Amino acid sequence: MRIPVTIVRGDGVGPEIMGAVLAILEAAKAPLAYQEVYLGQAAVQQGHPTGISAEALKAITQTGVLLKGPLMTPQGGGFSSVNVALRKLLDLYANVRPARAYGPYVATLHPRMDLVVIRENEEDLYVGQEYRQTPDVLQAAKITSHRACERIIRYAFDYARLHKRKKVTCLSKDNILKKTDGCFHAIFKTLSLAYPEIEAEHLIVDIGMARIVHKPEHFDVIVLSNLYGDILSDITAQLSGSVALGPSVNIGPEVALFEAIHGCAPDIATRDCANPSGLLLAALSMLGYLGQEAVAERIENAWLATLEAGQHTPDIYTPERSQHKVGTHAFAQAVIQRLGQKPHTLKPASRQASLKPLSREPEIPQKSLNLKALDVFMHWESSQARQHLETLKTLQLPHWTLACVQGRGLEVFPSTLVWPQFCDYWLCRFVPQEATAPPQAAIARLLTALAALREGKFVQVQVVYA
Ligand code: ATP
Repeated sequence: MRIPVTIVRGDGVGPEIMGAVLAILEAAKAPLAYQEVYLGQAAVQQGHPTGISAEALKAITQTGVLLKGPLMTPQGGGFSSVNVALRKLLDLYANVRPARAYGPYVATLHPRMDLVVIRENEEDLYVGQEYRQTPDVLQAAKITSHRACERIIRYAFDYARLHKRKKVTCLSKDNILKKTDGCFHAIFKTLSLAYPEIEAEHLIVDIGMARIVHKPEHFDVIVLSNLYGDILSDITAQLSGSVALGPSVNIGPEVALFEAIHGCAPDIATRDCANPSGLLLAALSMLGYLGQEAVAERIENAWLATLEAGQHTPDIYTPERSQHKVGTHAFAQAVIQRLGQKPHTLKPASRQASLKPLSREPEIPQKSLNLKALDVFMHWESSQARQHLETLKTLQLPHWTLACVQGRGLEVFPSTLVWPQFCDYWLCRFVPQEATAPPQAAIARLLTALAALREGKFVQVQVVYA
């Protein structure tokens, strides 16, 4: 019985590396039946403007497993990232990206590195809520939920326990982002108590990344939010020897998606020189996920033996360490020839532990939302801002007091140290006059009063809860 899996060849180097991987899986007799679907540009050309058709989505949810080549994301405009959309549509909340060195066969400064980046996969700046606020100012929303933090941090600790990893490091920027990253760090601290056998450490993301680059062998499992994780996992893959060596596993309660961490690499597409290793290692994780560990180990051992034999694609080729510079196709053939072999020096494959999430829905803390203030962001021309502030100060506002005004985080009312040189986007904070919060209708009345001002207009309103 073959297990049905969905595949997408993808863009750029995608078809070449997928061809190589499928050839290896077939040669190793992996018991899989492939259903091919089209996503991204190919789907757009077939009349699906989002790059995802309902049929493709149905096929993926039916098999529950997708092996995916890289998909092109248009830069600056065009359709939104299909990769990001898939993670949200399929609830693939955990992204697991191992990075291991293969020295002395693949050149690396860190031959003992063997770490796993676990990245939150659905929130943060990747929600894609971006706005133009004024002619000068653009804004992107960084969304962080208690539920997402808890799910990913718990997954990281469960992963560490299952894979006998010794330490989980959390990276955040909670010295600056006190609420969003603060939530991530606080949940990390709390959950770590339930895993006393695992060392838990927290580092500020900037120095944390610097230390990882300096001594990656000191790190084990690293858990972090979406954007930081994206950046770090490219860095760690490159540190291990090549960005093309990194697999990426996206896990959710019902579906799992397996891919290489690299993009579609248009600069080398169709030249038969891309390294298929990242996608191959992802396919091996897929086999493990499907309970086919034995065949995954057999292929991984052949792949390790290929690296040891110095059959290297150009990205990892060095005259001192390599025997032959081989293309994508020849590399796949070299792996196939070695099926049944084991590496001599590199640690042989061992794939027993599953990557499936432990199903446990987080309990969201019951918090009542007490209105603390209303932040109204005004578009005031830089040269007119002082005048507009004076007008605003004289405005009679039932229920509300103007508490402060800031331009890009610099306070200009009630106290002013420095007036920003150029700023056309002003935060005006109004606080309720009475201890009890004004009714919601009072918000509408405040905005009506502001709308009646002759100059300047509000471009954003944020209700601030305690
Ligand atoms: P994305 O934003 O989609 O992640 P990217 O802009 O980070 O993509 P990649 O497509 O990952 O860029 O390519 C980055 C560099 O890595 C390119 O120079 C590319 O040639 C190289 N590269 C990527 N994948 C491979 C591969 N499989 N084999 C060899 N080199 C690769």
